[in-house]
Amino acid sequence: MSKQKNPQCRERIVRYEGLARYEHQCTRQGKVERDGKWYCGQHDPEAVRARREAWDDAWSKQRVINQQQQAEDRAAKAIYLRLKALRADDPVGLFDALVKGVEPDHAPPTKGEEKP
Ligand SMILES: [Zn+2]
Repeated sequence: MSKQKNPQCRERIVRYEGLARYEHQCTRQGKVERDGKWYCGQHDPEAVRARREAWDDAWSKQRVINQQQQAEDRAAKAIYLRLKALRADDPVGLFDALVKGVEPDHAPPTKGEEKP
């Protein structure tokens, strides 16, 4: 008595070579039956769905990481522009910009504006 083989996977495989389109049925033996149709492990609709959800989750996490990185880049650029705009002879304003992250308001008075 021989063991009965499952039907062939029903998935249609499509590939393109230039403008030519080739289509054939998956050659693997069916592993699981879904709604009366047989699929191999790769084309099992539930496995396909699980892979897609894992992919979507990974992309969602990567999107959050990218947004955080972009926000950090913008902040770094803002600091850079602030420092670039500072005058080299304004150490107090430079300190405020570096430590407090505020716009410099300690620019040294220009000659003629000094308080009495
Ligand atoms: Zn298959």
